[in-house]
Amino acid sequence: MKSSPEYDYLIVGAGLYGAVFAHEATKRNKKCLVIDKRDHLGGNTYCEDINGINVHKYGAHIFHTNDKTIWDYVNSFVPFNRYTNSPLANFEGKLYNLPFNMNTFYQLWGTKTPEEAKAVLDQQTSKYQDINPSNLEEQALKLVGDDIYTKLIKGYTEKQWGRKTNELPAFIIKRLPLRFTYDNNYFNDAYQGIPIGGYNKLTEGLLENVECRTNVDFFKEKETLTSLAQQVVFTGKIDEYFDYCHGKLEYRSLDFKHEILETTNYQGNAVVNYTEAKIPYTRIIEHKHFEFGKQKTTVITKEYPLEASSEKEPYYPINDSKNTAIFKAYQDMAKKENTIFGGRLAEYKYYDMHQVIGAALSKTKKMFD
Ligand code: FAD
Ligand code: UDP
Repeated sequence: MKSSPEYDYLIVGAGLYGAVFAHEATKRNKKCLVIDKRDHLGGNTYCEDINGINVHKYGAHIFHTNDKTIWDYVNSFVPFNRYTNSPLANFEGKLYNLPFNMNTFYQLWGTKTPEEAKAVLDQQTSKYQDINPSNLEEQALKLVGDDIYTKLIKGYTEKQWGRKTNELPAFIIKRLPLRFTYDNNYFNDAYQGIPIGGYNKLTEGLLENVECRTNVDFFKEKETLTSLAQQVVFTGKIDEYFDYCHGKLEYRSLDFKHEILETTNYQGNAVVNYTEAKIPYTRIIEHKHFEFGKQKTTVITKEYPLEASSEKEPYYPINDSKNTAIFKAYQDMAKKENTIFGGRLAEYKYYDMHQVIGAALSKTKKMFD
């Protein structure tokens, strides 16, 4: 007689989707096994301690949400600090505040009042108002006009995505706020911060009572691993799960070049974007500023965008029409599988952390309550 599997769920991927799913299922007395092919847990939120500084190994992660339930949820594992993201943009050696606000308009045009700034913006955007934007370039020009588009958007975006702005979906640029106050807060959300002591504390809290194995690639022992559990929760790449039968989904990747510097403060801010095309990296992150660090040294990371490949991690799904059609074909296959697909890679979605947590919480609530 065939014995029943040892686990209720085999969770592939120890990022936020997998960790929240595992936590919620374990809380309801389900037995879970979490595996990850990397040598650590936490997915892209993972931090490495270098000289007492939490270095965001897979790019800067700033938590923000408008949803008090999600804010209270993450704070129940680790308290968050009051970090507010206020990036700067460096274009041809001159600094501009982001997101686009009264400080930026002053730096660009010398305008001092909202009325003056609106007059310049209206003059720059009026010729685009009849356009129904079908791509990022049209959307940006309609929203912010020529100056901001040329200095702060075009170069950065084309580097980041490796595609012309008129080949990219409009929604990407809608992530950035535009406001007529002197407010450099990058996000409009009510809650924002960094876990005190770093993101690994959040992962540890979520996975405290869960069995986890690292350095385990699901595809290397798919049959054995699948047989261990009643159901698989898959948070890796959906196209890989189906053996690329409808073709490969495209992702943007990043090379992170970390440097330890013998100075206490390199750039005075956690995030400085380089918005001109000829500088090959998009931004420099100085990690200590996320936690108001006072260490003697500092760690900076330059982010160089490039296309994802078998050696380069898939970070950003490219949600253009070609890839959306391929994803749809995989999504149809997924509906027929006894597997739960969740997270940025399996849903092929430009999710932020709070959205991934929200998706995992609503999935587990629907399943268990
Ligand atoms: P991931 O964290 O990618 O976890 C998936 C895990 O699955 C990985 O650990 C991977 O190793 C594992 N895996 C994949 N395939 C297999 C396999 N075959 N076998 C075993 N394991 C496998 N969000 C914000 O809210 N604020 C930010 O400031 C922010 N900044 C970001 C910056 C960058 C550069 C990037 C790339 C993302 C950023 N995000 C940010 C988004 C955030 O990282 C994601 O929303 C979130 O981490 C996604 O969680 P996940 O569990 O879906 O995926
Ligand atoms: N962006 C830009 N200039 C900037 C910062 C962002 O044009 O200085 C555009 C770019 O297309 C980017 C998008 O806005 O991909 C979203 O930016 P965000 O900072 O949210 O990107 P992420 O943190 O997800 O990399």
